Parts: sequence; C-alpha cells; structure tokens
Amino acid sequence: PEAITVQELANRMAARGGEVVKALFRMGVMATLTQTIDADTAELVVNEFGHRVRRVSESDVEQGLEGTVDTDEELLPRPPVVTIMGHVDHGKTSLLDALRKTDMAGREAGGITQHIGAYQVQVAGGHKVTFIDTPGHAAFTAMRARGASVTDMVILVVAADDGVMPQTVEAIHHAKAANVPLIVAVNKIDKPGVNLDRVRQELLQHEIVVESLGGDTMEIQVSATKAMNLDKLLEAILLQAEVLDLKANPNRAAEGTVIESKLDKGRGPVATVLVQRGTLKQGDLVVAGAEWGRVRAMLDDKGRQMKDADPSLPVEILGLSGVPSAGETFVAVENEGRAREISEFRQRRLRDKQAAAAGAARGTLADMMA
Ligand code: GDP
Ligand code: MG
Repeated sequence: PEAITVQELANRMAARGGEVVKALFRMGVMATLTQTIDADTAELVVNEFGHRVRRVSESDVEQGLEGTVDTDEELLPRPPVVTIMGHVDHGKTSLLDALRKTDMAGREAGGITQHIGAYQVQVAGGHKVTFIDTPGHAAFTAMRARGASVTDMVILVVAADDGVMPQTVEAIHHAKAANVPLIVAVNKIDKPGVNLDRVRQELLQHEIVVESLGGDTMEIQVSATKAMNLDKLLEAILLQAEVLDLKANPNRAAEGTVIESKLDKGRGPVATVLVQRGTLKQGDLVVAGAEWGRVRAMLDDKGRQMKDADPSLPVEILGLSGVPSAGETFVAVENEGRAREISEFRQRRLRDKQAAAAGAARGTLADMMA
C-alpha cells in the first residue's frame, strides 16, 4: 500500500500533526491525523518542510514509502561535492582554476569549458570530485537559509603569507553551522618566508586543530598558481569522502538543488542544477522552485550535450518556464498535472510569504505612525 498516516508522517519529520494537516490543506488535500495520504503527496509535504526523504527504518517499505525511500541495496557511491571558501585574495578562484586543469575527462573532451557555477573533475583512478564555485559567502548563506544542503565538505583556503583573516573565520563558522567537515588548504606556499606554524596557531584559536598539532583536521600545503600539491589536496578530499561514505540512488526520478540561474537572451531561462538523487534525463519534466518545464537540453561544464546526469553531477538545463532562485530544489515528475500542482503550490506559498512580509511591513509603519 502506497500510503502513510498524517500522524506517522508528522512523527517522522518531528513536526506537529497540526502543521502537517495545515500544509496538506494548503495543497488542497483535506486530511485528519488518522487518515492516510499517498506516497507522492507525502514526499511533497516532506520537501515543503525542508526535509529530504530518507530511509528511516525497515518498516518504511511496508508503510508504502517505496519510491521515496532508498534501500541500502539501491544506494550507490557518489562523488563528493566540495565548496572552496576563504578570505578574499587568498586564492579561491586560482585554486578552482588549477583544480579544473587536473581534470582527466576535460582533456579527453578537448575542453572548451563553460563558466557554470559548478564543475566535476575526474581524478586519477576514475574517481570524481564536484566543486561548487560559490560567488561568495553570501550565496552560501542564502542557500543554507533556504534549507539547501549541497556541500559535503569545505576546503578552507588560507594564504600562508596572510594567515587567518575575518572571512576565514566566517568560513569556519559556515562549515560548523552546516555540520560538514573542513580541510585546510594553506595556499601560496611558493612565497618566500611563509610561517606555517603561525597559520596553525591562528586556526587553533578558532578551534580548528590540524593533524600536525594533534587534531583531526587535514592540512595540505598548496600553491594554486604553481600547481603544487594539487594531487595531495584531491587525495585528501577523496579520503574525507570515503569516511563520509557518500551514497545516492541513481535509479529513480531526479532531485537536487539549483546552484545558479539566469535568463539567457538566446536560450531563455537557464539553470545550473546539482543532481543529488536519481538520474536527470533529457526530456524529463522538472519543477524547479515554482518554475517547471521539460528539459529541452542539458549541458555539462565542458559544454557537452548530456542525455543523463547522475548524482553529484552539475548540469545546465534549458526548457524551464522561468528562472528559479539559487538554493531552490528541483524534482523530476511524472506528468504535467503533477508539475502544475507542485508549481502552483509553491507559487501560492511564495505569495503567502510575500503577503505576510507586506503585512508585517504595514504593521511596522502603522506602529511608527501611532
Ligand atoms: P580569491 O579572491 O580568493 O579568489 O583569490 P584569487 O584566486 O583571485 O587570488 C588573489 C591573488 O593571489 C592573485 O593575484 C593570484 O595570482 C594570487 N595567488 C593565488 N594563489 C597563489 C599562489 O599559490 N601563489 C602565489 N604566489 N600567488 C597566488
Ligand atoms: Mg575569487
């Protein structure tokens, strides 16, 4: 039976039953706590609560959440998704560029690289790593505020000649708040007279204890511009990924997060999405934020046309009705009716939020004038 009671669903999300009933009501579904709803509706509710559907126990399958939960057998290893953060001018962009040049697959493709907000490199041994190029910490914060968790780990770039600076500290806080591990990349070690011990001591003051000081945070010394030790950094990333045991089920409808988006004069709305579950296929119907459409074309960061995109692969998609915001989730759905339903629900929720914000603003104004 593909069904779950409203109460059970609330319990699993640690939400109040009444909140779930309200959410359902807003979706046009009338249900009491003891009534059952189908798995698709349940998944929609779970997503609206900002959770990801995840296998909780053996009983999930009996409870009818098959299709929304992945069994251990269905979960396959996926590449790590890495975000590079650090103080301005410490070499984030240089490091991203240098790492991109290590891509074995890119060389094969003859590499005309697109500038999209994320890319995947193939490392020696067939392993892959996805890097997200956050335009700034603000974007990262905005994504997190929307409940988007896209990154598996943070590479903290610290320039050896400058040490820990305000945005370094900010990045440390971001990684801690997102509860993801951090790897320190001490950059610019090609410069003369750098003092690594000073950098380590400064990190220690912010509770980042590197391995050489007896802690468990990996520290790799690199030079982005001289391409030094990039292999060591990639190795550290893969090691961390192994510890995290990153997995996803590629054999289901795709789900993921919008990394960036724009309105392109020639191509219309273009969104860069990160597939986090399932496989996105050309021709799929997707809802991204409140926008929807059929994926007309799909391109990877090397500008190659893709027929399908598996977990942790970032791709540009064309064919959406409008431009979704970064940090919004996307899902592939079965039919247009379902796409409209989800899109309308999200539009309604957006309008409600805007109305509430406007109401609050009016209240403030009225208070001020009273
Ligand atoms: P971002 O602001 O963190 O993205 O830093 P950038 O990548 O733009 O680098 C800032 C400056 O530092 C540029 O002039 C780079 O050429 C320089 N730079 C970056 N990495 C290195 C490095 O490993 N060694 C040296 N000597 N300079 C570097
Ligand atoms: Mg930069």
